[in-house]
Amino acid sequence: MIRIHNLGFPRIGARRELKKALEAYWNEEIDQKTLLHTGRELRRRHWQLQERAGVDLVPVGDFSWYDQVLDLSALLGVVPERFRFTGTTVDLDTYFRMARGRAPSGEPAAACEMTKWFDTNYHYLVPEFSARQRFVVSSDRLFEEVSEAMELGYRVKPVLLGPLSYLWLGKIKGEAFDKLELVEALLPAYGEILNKLKAQGVEWVQLDEPILALDLPVEWQRAFESVYSRLQVKGLNKLLTVYFGPLKDNLKLACSLPVEGLHIDAVRGADEISTVLSWLPGYKILSLGVIDGRNVWRVDLDSLLDPLRLIQEKLGDRLWLAPSCSLLHVPVDLEQEQQLDHEIRSWLAFAVQKLDELHILKQALDNACGVSAEGLLAAREAATARRNSPRIHKPAVKQRCDGVTLQMLERHSAFETRIHKQQARLKLPLLPTTTIGSFPQTSEIRQARRQYKTGRISEIEYQALMHKEIDFVIEKQQNIGLDVLVHGEPERNDMVEYFGELLDGITISEYGWVQSYGSRCVKPPIIYGDVSRPRPMTVAWSRYAQSRADRPMKGMLTGPVTILNWSFVRDDQPRADTCRQLALALRDEVRELEQAGISIIQIDEAALREGLPLRKSEWQHYLDWAVNAFKLTAAGVADETQIHTHMCYSEFNDIMPAIAAMDADVITIETSRSDMELLEVFEDFSYPNDIGPGVYDIHSPNVPTVESITKLITKASEYIPIERLWINPDCGLKTRGWDEVEKALTNMVDAANFLRSRFSHDRAM
Ligand code: GLN
Ligand code: ZN
Repeated sequence: MIRIHNLGFPRIGARRELKKALEAYWNEEIDQKTLLHTGRELRRRHWQLQERAGVDLVPVGDFSWYDQVLDLSALLGVVPERFRFTGTTVDLDTYFRMARGRAPSGEPAAACEMTKWFDTNYHYLVPEFSARQRFVVSSDRLFEEVSEAMELGYRVKPVLLGPLSYLWLGKIKGEAFDKLELVEALLPAYGEILNKLKAQGVEWVQLDEPILALDLPVEWQRAFESVYSRLQVKGLNKLLTVYFGPLKDNLKLACSLPVEGLHIDAVRGADEISTVLSWLPGYKILSLGVIDGRNVWRVDLDSLLDPLRLIQEKLGDRLWLAPSCSLLHVPVDLEQEQQLDHEIRSWLAFAVQKLDELHILKQALDNACGVSAEGLLAAREAATARRNSPRIHKPAVKQRCDGVTLQMLERHSAFETRIHKQQARLKLPLLPTTTIGSFPQTSEIRQARRQYKTGRISEIEYQALMHKEIDFVIEKQQNIGLDVLVHGEPERNDMVEYFGELLDGITISEYGWVQSYGSRCVKPPIIYGDVSRPRPMTVAWSRYAQSRADRPMKGMLTGPVTILNWSFVRDDQPRADTCRQLALALRDEVRELEQAGISIIQIDEAALREGLPLRKSEWQHYLDWAVNAFKLTAAGVADETQIHTHMCYSEFNDIMPAIAAMDADVITIETSRSDMELLEVFEDFSYPNDIGPGVYDIHSPNVPTVESITKLITKASEYIPIERLWINPDCGLKTRGWDEVEKALTNMVDAANFLRSRFSHDRAM
């Protein structure tokens, strides 16, 4: 009999119950007991769902109050000194203080850093290691949850991030040393954990080592052998799990490690299955992650069955089936989607449905009678319907994509020529000041959007409310004295969802929430078909705003790469093709903005970097098509129209040439948190166009002073000629309050005026 198992279930709850409980606890609206109760209920419900779906081994340890890497830090007692952890167990409030800097009890301290979990939109909390780092088992949570599940009668498989991935993901604080040296101190703690689990009656433990899907230095590859040969607990089986990509140069290593089972990502690493089969020793279980845990498409199960039958012949009971990775990265349950178009819905599978798919596969492979024939037929029909649906295939869109020429990617003239024409038109002073797009989103704005969506106010009423808000932000900006204005984006709930709702070929679910970090969830749009733009999306708002302002008003769009990277993307054509369709739709929008008299258009590419493939050898290909998509969006305008782009992250030293190749006239980036360190890259690489290094950290409620802004810009001018510098915040202001925003922007303008007089030179002349 084939076993099916799951690597992890979404913890947030089908209705974001965990989010709500967490936020209520942080705001001291509920007590800890109530919070703990919600967690227990969610775990119970999720185990039950999984068992009902036929999962033989349910995961434990996938539930988390914030993040699974932080859980492991707590389990191992890796608590930075500033949190003053002295006891023997890391309590919940210490844990929350590590995550967020504060909690209902305990002294606030700077939160741990958060960063992207591989190539997903999930963020983990970065462990901090010091040279004399100790690892002491300091939490009972995992063991308690194991008992909890066992008492409920489940067969469990605890999930733990493996020691090498854990070390890899952490960062060094204080004096430098080689992280690998920590293995010696770390292994005894892992040994203790595994022994405890064994004593609880656990048969299998899942050790995740996703870094085996990365380019690893030789020392790290070598460390795997020694670490795993030392991590032996008699009678406890280890399933080593790798996901998010093929193993490539780590394949032989992964097959040969002394563990009882290996899980591979059979979606992204499908090409490697046969090699794995030939390398895998005869005693090992092979778990194939055949159902995509990173996307929402239902699978044509038939196409999986034949190859799986061959593998089953070879492996017999040693074959297990699973999703490719934890289901953390997909929404919980499609059942709740009542508003979603029926046809599109029939093509989808969320977490619960993915487990059903596995079950059908298992039954078919085991020749069990019952639902499998029916399930297979339904999957086949859905796949055929999707392949042929006119909802997906728009010949006109495909044709237009095929007709894209190299010429369409280039502006008429080079930057040096364009910028002169733009200056003649815009007449901006030296060091122009601007913001990134959004202004504080007050509860009135959200309410107006909600009322309009649910039909409680008419379009006219809605428009009037938005116009009032636009008038308000324009007046504020003009009073503050900013040079280039924005309309404030009050009509947008989210920079991607807004466009997802307006473009054809994209749909938005009702409850398709996915955890991004802690209690924060996002609802990625679903790009199901050829993308086109039925009507202008932003032109009316921008035209109105420009008509009310006495200086340039920036048009504001989200770029094609960012829409793509923050969505669930169709899997029946290359991502590059979908991106090009998005680019063409946005190109039309850009041109219409230009025709409406908008002289500056910003195309945000906040997520360009996070689309980078995990393996460096694949970077260039991605960057090529991504940059081209941006250029295709932007290049249809006259020289006099100024194109801006914005990126809110500070690590792009390694992709600087690609960013320059986008050829935006102005780029605004995040730099204030790193004290302009990022600009050091310009010592080796001279960025050719205008640039606005952020001078105001919008993630913090602190108001930057005139002096700090002056200092940052002065520092920036050491790297970039002053004529090419802009002054702006790090990112949009929608999460901030008006009070602080007004003060911060006033300081920004004061700093600009001060610097202008210091450089006493006016660009407009
Ligand atoms: N224009 C967007 C805003 O200001 C950009 C947001 C982002 O980069 N994340 O909100
Ligand atoms: Zn940003």
